[in-house]
Amino acid sequence: MEPQTGKKPADKPWFDPAAPFIRQSSHTNDVAIIGGGIAGASCCHALNQRGIKTTLFEQQDTLASGASGNPIGMLEPYITADNSLSGQFYQAGYQHSRNLVRQLLAEGEDVEAAFCGVLSLPANPRDATRQQAILDRLSHAPKADTPTSVQHLDPKAASDVLGLSVSVGGLFYTDAGWVNPPSLCRVLAKQARMKQGIHIARITHIQGGGARLHDQQGSHLGDFGAVIIAGAMETAHFAQTRWMRDYMIALRGQISCFSNALLGDLKVNCVLSHKGYLTPERAGLHVFGATFDRHANNTDITENDHAANITQLSLAVPDLAARLKAGALGGRAGLRTTTPDHLPLIGPAPDYAAYLDAYPDLDKGRYYARYCSAPYHKDVYVCTGFGARGMIGAPLAATIIANQIAGRKPPLPPLVQEALHPARYIVRAIKRGLLTP
Ligand SMILES: Cc1cc2nc3c(=O)[nH]c(=O)nc-3n(C[C@H](O)[C@H](O)[C@H](O)COP(=O)(O)OP(=O)(O)OC[C@H]3O[C@@H](n4cnc5c(N)ncnc54)[C@H](O)[C@@H]3O)c2cc1C
Repeated sequence: MEPQTGKKPADKPWFDPAAPFIRQSSHTNDVAIIGGGIAGASCCHALNQRGIKTTLFEQQDTLASGASGNPIGMLEPYITADNSLSGQFYQAGYQHSRNLVRQLLAEGEDVEAAFCGVLSLPANPRDATRQQAILDRLSHAPKADTPTSVQHLDPKAASDVLGLSVSVGGLFYTDAGWVNPPSLCRVLAKQARMKQGIHIARITHIQGGGARLHDQQGSHLGDFGAVIIAGAMETAHFAQTRWMRDYMIALRGQISCFSNALLGDLKVNCVLSHKGYLTPERAGLHVFGATFDRHANNTDITENDHAANITQLSLAVPDLAARLKAGALGGRAGLRTTTPDHLPLIGPAPDYAAYLDAYPDLDKGRYYARYCSAPYHKDVYVCTGFGARGMIGAPLAATIIANQIAGRKPPLPPLVQEALHPARYIVRAIKRGLLTP
């Protein structure tokens, strides 16, 4: 006899929102955030905006010491021709980040950014077809659904807009640009209680709700109403999140920089995005790159990677690339945290073993069955996996978690939020018969 209580599979109880801690009698209503990159700083800001106090723990002595420490991050729309779920998330994320940075600038905050436009050139015929399909989709979309203002430029107009000669035309996103991630992190986290130079080693649960943080020596670092783990690859270092290691991939990347003096009379007017990217001058330097390497997880700067960046740049602007020498470049390397489906992990931390117990037969397609609500590690959330798009993904992701913690309505349609939910990997694996309790 099948159980008559619980939710139907169509209700997808495995993606239910977590209970907001604010409604519980917890030890404290502060939220702890682990990780001082763009993900953690955005969570501080989103919670502070909702009247919730935050404490930010960063193991290094300064914010933005990981991937978010690059001098420039592109704010480029990510639009898909078919309006896929990833396209919907990053499209909304781009709009959110652009508006947020604009608002912070208007409020006189010390964020370094420029909305100089992004010229996106196709790297191959497939890219060119994709750009045409994007233009077609946007031209038929209602104005409210159009994330950005975009024009198609021929090679001459593209060269004029960029300030350097290019041989192909492409899309020009007029309201896009770049941001200096460390300055954005500092501003987003400025209302948080700052705990730098502290590595969080363990999270334990407090009877009745909330989370207690501990360092490596086992010292107790405070009690919080909830904790958000925004530690990039290290997000999976905790007992509650260890299973996520199987769904997180480190992708090393190196950027290269050259002095503005090298350009002589030329001026790069906007961001160039091709297979890689080139940015306008900031602090006397231009940034270009970046490499993608799955097989390295160190952050040493190598001449080989500079040479790879020059080769990549030469495909779009050969005259400029010919002036660059790998041995004379500056740079920075970091690790991108990616996932197999290229979408981030955003939401409450699923209790892996309890999921296997609660939903053991999802592969059987028993549509009449009834299931319990999602079993989470109470008051523990994750916010990571932004790959190469942290600047346009993390600020919106932070609002998803902050709304859940504050018991507010989700900012995105259910299907998009489900596509970001950390439990999607457990549910998919059970449905494919790959996991058994
Ligand atoms: C070469 C390169 C170029 C890029 N270019 C762009 C771009 O143009 N546009 C764009 O949108 N994105 C870009 N990205 C991607 C972007 O930088 C990342 O998506 C983003 O920085 C990820 O932010 P994060 O906060 O998740 O991770 P991080 O910035 O890595 O922050 C994680 C932080 O958590 C801390 N931490 C981890 N564990 C603990 C612990 N246990 N206790 C305390 N602290 C802890 C770490 O010290 C670190 O500071 C680029 C990335 C690279 C590598």
